[in-house]
Amino acid sequence: TKQFVKGQSQSLRNELSNLDRKHVLHPSTNPKNQVDHGPKIIFTGGDGIYLNDIDGNTYIDGVSMLWNVNLGHGNKELAEASYKQMVEAAYTTTFYGYVNEATVRLAEKITSLTPGDLNTVFFTSGGSESNDTAFKLSRFYWQLRGYKEKKKIISLRRGYHGVTVAAQRATGIDAYRNFSGSTDPDIVNAKPHLTECELGDKNHPEYEGCIRDIIEKEGADKIAAVIVEPIQGAGGVHVPPEEYLQAVRKLCDENNIHLIADEVICGFGRTGKMFGVDHWEIVPDFMSVAKGITSGYAQLGGVVMTEKIRDEFAQYDAMLAHGFTYSGHPTACAVGLKNIEIIERDGLVERANTMGRELDKGLKYLEDKYTFFTNRRSRGLLAGFDLMKDPEANIPFDHSARAAGNLVDECYNRKLLIRPFDFEPGMNIVAIAPPLTISKNEVEKIIHIVDDSLTAFSKKI
Ligand code: PMP
Repeated sequence: TKQFVKGQSQSLRNELSNLDRKHVLHPSTNPKNQVDHGPKIIFTGGDGIYLNDIDGNTYIDGVSMLWNVNLGHGNKELAEASYKQMVEAAYTTTFYGYVNEATVRLAEKITSLTPGDLNTVFFTSGGSESNDTAFKLSRFYWQLRGYKEKKKIISLRRGYHGVTVAAQRATGIDAYRNFSGSTDPDIVNAKPHLTECELGDKNHPEYEGCIRDIIEKEGADKIAAVIVEPIQGAGGVHVPPEEYLQAVRKLCDENNIHLIADEVICGFGRTGKMFGVDHWEIVPDFMSVAKGITSGYAQLGGVVMTEKIRDEFAQYDAMLAHGFTYSGHPTACAVGLKNIEIIERDGLVERANTMGRELDKGLKYLEDKYTFFTNRRSRGLLAGFDLMKDPEANIPFDHSARAAGNLVDECYNRKLLIRPFDFEPGMNIVAIAPPLTISKNEVEKIIHIVDDSLTAFSKKI
């Protein structure tokens, strides 16, 4: 990859920085900060867990960018698969019944891995589009079956499902959910995030407003689907209680409601199983996938649906009026196929487990060492922990102290990129999710940097 030496590229940096400040509006970024100070990092290349920037720095990518670069950076096989497809047939549409080999082969491959009878894929370009599509297909199914009123979607607090209007309203993080004042009365956000209440504990303090309660209040005849991430990601890495997803599955079955599993982060090995739901051994009605499907090397997503749902659609004798220009994009699908081939060939799902255990061992060491480090949790290479002023007394850090942000800044100064989550008062969560190709030695490097950063952080607070 292109390697820059410190100082050498000062003029290029200044040029790109000025152009960026003027011409690019960044997602999930403070615009004033960007316009005042320019971009934080200008990446130039990468290799495995490492990323290089224009100033000659090398960073460890501790969250696989947006939990998606599961094969790591600079993978030539994926680049070659993309090139090969591009020179053959870079793009053809899947509208009007047209198709190409890569799309068909990838659909077959994905459905050979998904549990139960999740056997048909509707392709999209990413996670938000997948969730919007799942909502629409669920509602469409109920319409075809004569349930005209079944339209509502129930989602969870701290769930993240994307930023298109429907996905945004299903997202249970206020900043995203309320951005630009969007509304959608058909999407109901449950009050608690993953708690015991779905297991039937009426004495649970948050029982009012849990999925069970909402179904009773809104009426099952008005509800199309419940959407959950098997493990919540952007809400702060929350692993649901044992039996939780089975209980939600049962609740949906009893009330004739679809269950949508948002596997956008969990899918394709991240959690040490091929899919997140595999930990709970349940089969959802729809499964949304994206990110890890191509390890971020091409923009691709999809909604996988059961045979029962597909069979209903198969009787519809008119145009299915939904689809994206890039649904089933041949180049993206060719990259996806190669990506899955490598995951299987190199045993990366198992590797997520073994390296996940190493990461957890390191995090346990840190938990034992620092009193304010608490509640570590992980599945495979999806890990998180909390920072609290006094975990035993359940006292959080003052929100204005930006505890999680502070620690992440310390890591950044030591060239490790990880992510803070502090969008609710009292919340100071840090996530770590490196590429599945990571080595034991590299896991140790990450722990070492977090350790040094925690020491620096402890001196500041
Ligand atoms: N669902 C989940 C669980 C996600 O983590 C994300 C992205 N972080 C999305 C949906 C949205 O995906 P995209 O950004 O590709 O639209």
